[in-house]
Amino acid sequence: VTVSVLYWRTQAVFDPAVHCVPPPGMAGFSASMALADLDYIAPSQACIKPEVVRAQRAQGAVGIHGVDAPEPEAIKITLQDCLACSGCVTTAETMLVTSQSRPQIETVFAGADETTPVPWSVVVSVSDQSAASLAAHVGVSMHEAFQLISGFARHVLRANYVTDTRWAQLLSVQQTTQEFLRRVNTGSGPLPLIASTCPGWVCYVEKTHPDLLPHVCTAMSPLAIAGRYIKQYVAANATRPPADVDPEGVTAGDLRARTYHISVQPCFDRKLEAARGDFAGEDYARDTDCVLGTQELLDWMLEVDATLPWRAPLDSAMEPLRPAVEAPSEATTLEGSGGYHQHIFAEVGRLVAGTAAPPEAIRYQTKRNANHRLATVDGITMPESGKPLICGVVYGFQHIQNLARGLKRRMASTPDYAFIEAMACPDGCLNGGAQIRCEDRTKHHERLRVVQAAFEEFTAQASAQAPLGAVAGPFTSASAYRDWIGADAASQEAAAALTTTLHDRKAEMALQDTVAASLKW
Ligand code: SF4
Ligand code: SF4
Repeated sequence: VTVSVLYWRTQAVFDPAVHCVPPPGMAGFSASMALADLDYIAPSQACIKPEVVRAQRAQGAVGIHGVDAPEPEAIKITLQDCLACSGCVTTAETMLVTSQSRPQIETVFAGADETTPVPWSVVVSVSDQSAASLAAHVGVSMHEAFQLISGFARHVLRANYVTDTRWAQLLSVQQTTQEFLRRVNTGSGPLPLIASTCPGWVCYVEKTHPDLLPHVCTAMSPLAIAGRYIKQYVAANATRPPADVDPEGVTAGDLRARTYHISVQPCFDRKLEAARGDFAGEDYARDTDCVLGTQELLDWMLEVDATLPWRAPLDSAMEPLRPAVEAPSEATTLEGSGGYHQHIFAEVGRLVAGTAAPPEAIRYQTKRNANHRLATVDGITMPESGKPLICGVVYGFQHIQNLARGLKRRMASTPDYAFIEAMACPDGCLNGGAQIRCEDRTKHHERLRVVQAAFEEFTAQASAQAPLGAVAGPFTSASAYRDWIGADAASQEAAAALTTTLHDRKAEMALQDTVAASLKW
């Protein structure tokens, strides 16, 4: 059996200097991450699996980094070869991705979509990573980049509300930490606990290593939390029907279905995450209706007005994820993927030493390279055993592949991690595949440093001077706990509202095959 595949995130996983030529018919997508309604890996790009790449090169089918790249040609990869790593997308995934793009938003706004009604209210949420990428590209602070996106969203996307996602990020890291503490204190699940915020990692485990699923945290990602809260709480309390609609006949379901949530995110993986059946409601299709990549958003902005004139405040407070740091450290940059391991250290520190361990106290030991680090804090130990608390920071697909193998085989070379922050992109989410790319791809690393610097400056400001934005309104972690969940972060209610289900895709596929075979029979 063969499967035709389409290049997707390979560039972010391998060398950023990859020579990327978007095939024709890819309007609306960024040049670097262009997708088409065709099924193939473009010849200048590479499947993540080295043996496949070597074999294809030997046949003259693909070139790497633009060297000896032949004319475009469809490439077939056997299912046995494919790691199901989501380094590229198949036809079904392509359809999911194209259903979340600018043309889809325009279709819905024009009232021409058969399944999504014209919105009464539009909410745009903006990730930190996207704001950092835009800030680096335009040459402004991240704070101003948020305002630029907010202005564009209000003028062009008809947004009623524009919010950052730090409040949802806070809920996600807190629930991840709560699950870690439950496992440590009650043995309710195995360690190490592996963060589940990266949909690329989750997809890989579900398809390829389902036996590791008990290790994967069930806390929802910031995107999933933001979408659920917007559809379930914000819609009920802030969406109003237009003047020509009798409010008497409007149901809560109508308000949810007529609230349209667009999220600006650093990778296409988030589009696939938003399309998961777990993040939908009974009376609406998706918690997040459309995910736009940062480059897609910039392309849209430039097309409307290349001077990027828009500025407007956010409807949210850009909450600090933690107290102020004395000085930016390695941990500050690594917070660009959400700050999960930093929170684990802070909370376990509070538990065993009576005080939260600050990020600057974290010591990093580089393993194979900077994308695989071992993190410890002097004096922070596991509550019961008294052994040092060891967190893994494992970024990039090749590293998470090695990690999964090491954990499955209980290899001695795999450290005794209690918690692992696993992310599919090398250098984490600030380097996501849908971020704005340099024209000159050899300057990618320089650009990434500028993105990281913008992020560090912003997090230092957000920690020290919070709130940077509006304090009223529903987009705060306090409002989500108090007004929506009705209980605090450590409660069972919060755990129930903010966890999701992970799926053993191998078993599901085997079941489908069995059913199909029995039907044929
Ligand atoms: S899913 Fe991964 S392993 Fe499979 S063809 Fe795509 S890039 Fe290669
Ligand atoms: S690591 Fe990459 S794929 Fe995973 S959530 Fe971050 S940007 Fe997306």
